[in-house]
Formats: sequence, structure tokens, C-alpha cells
Amino acid sequence: MEYKVKFKEMKIGAALEFNLIDYPGKIAAMAFTTLCNYQCPHCHAAPLLKGSGDIGTEGFLGYLDTVKEWVNGVVICGGEPTLQPGLKPFLGRLRERGLSIKLDTNGSNPKVLEQLLGEGLVDYVAMDVKGPKFLWPATAGVEGHEEAMAESLKLVAKFPDYEFRTTVAPVVRAGEDISFLTVPEMAAAARLIVSATGGNAHKYFVQKFVPRKDGLLDSRLESFPETPHQLLKDVHKEVVKYIPDSRIRG
Ligand code: SF4
Repeated sequence: MEYKVKFKEMKIGAALEFNLIDYPGKIAAMAFTTLCNYQCPHCHAAPLLKGSGDIGTEGFLGYLDTVKEWVNGVVICGGEPTLQPGLKPFLGRLRERGLSIKLDTNGSNPKVLEQLLGEGLVDYVAMDVKGPKFLWPATAGVEGHEEAMAESLKLVAKFPDYEFRTTVAPVVRAGEDISFLTVPEMAAAARLIVSATGGNAHKYFVQKFVPRKDGLLDSRLESFPETPHQLLKDVHKEVVKYIPDSRIRG
């Protein structure tokens, strides 16, 4: 397929050289887009969210040309890539190079996901599910995206390959109490995925929160330990009842 669209620049705040970890089954380079419409307290990407820095798409594509003998995939993450007006043309240019494409998203932009699905521009989507729906304003740090996220759950399950994932992170609750997502809350998140998609044949990763001393959006979370492995195991034991292919990551 040829992509003759006019190329709009996409802001890439950082890139990582290729690795075998971030795109299952591929040797993939990573492009981190700037800006996000969420403010997750546990987010590590503060500089990207400010939109500072841009290595330029030409720089990233130039790098890909130097490693084309090894690299067969690209991960587009962020920030939130679906906010970038230049996303589709950029993906088209990756396709011209014969690369497989994985997109990481917070699910806030179902319209863009629908277009990417319709145009076959993405092979693998990883969507963050920010815990149970009633906690989304706290876990995403913004209000009013519930409908969009529910719509995205349905759409993501139609891509050729995909995963859902939740970081078992500390949550700032009413009264400023801060504590990790609980087993019942994670069970509610798993049930939500099943009810929104109408099925349970999904990959679902429960992920470890890792504190970072100088880069979390909410500095109150920096003194928290990483998610205890026992909590991850307890969460997994529960969510696997709803989504059999649930796994612990981290
Ligand atoms: S963790 Fe949250 S705030 Fe950070 S990039 Fe992802 S969706 Fe945006």
C-alpha cells in the first residue's frame, strides 16, 4: 500500500535504541511522543508531558535506516501518541519501511484508534486500563474520559494483536489517603474489560509500580515502595478468574 499523504511533523521527545522487550516477538525501536491529556500521579514521563524536546521525525527515521538490518518493529508510546496530528502520516512512513507497529495508548481517543484500525496502520495496541472505572478520575488525574475509555476497550480488542494492562500503583484517595490499588479494585477493572469488550479472551498484564525519586507527576508517590510482589500475586489470583490469560509483569 502507498501512503501519499502530506507529511505533518510528529513531536518525538525521546527515542530508545532497539530492544527485544517492548514489542513481543520483534526487535523494536521506541519513539516517545510528547504531551498527554492525562495526569496520572504515578507517571514517569514528566518531561515528555511538558512537551519539551523534539528529536524530530526525520532524526528518528534516519536512525531506523541505520539499523534496518536488525529492527523489524517500532513502538510508539508517550505521552499519548494519539494526540499527535502527524501520527498517521508517520505510521505510513514506517509502513513504507516494512516495519511492524505497536502503539501504546491511554485509550482516551477512540476516534483516532478507529481510524488506525480502519486503515490497518497498527499491528499491536497496548492500552492502559487505569484501574476500576470509579477510580479513573484519581488514577488518570483528570475527569470526563470514562466514556471514551470504555469505547476504546471495545476497539482495541479488534486489532490484530493487543493487550490491556494496569499498573498496580498507589492511588490518591478522598481525604488524601494514598494506598495501592486493592485486589477487589483490580477485580473490578478486570470485570470492566470483560463487560466492555463482551469477552474474556484477552491478554491482561498486571504491572508493578516502580517509584522514581525525581520524576513522578505526584511527588507524594515518590516515597512509596514498588508494588509488593505478594500484592501482584494476590491480584493475579483474582483477575485470572475473569480473564484467564492474565499475567504479572515486572
Ligand atoms: S502514565 Fe498517564 S500521564 Fe503518563 S503518559 Fe501515560 S497516560 Fe499520560
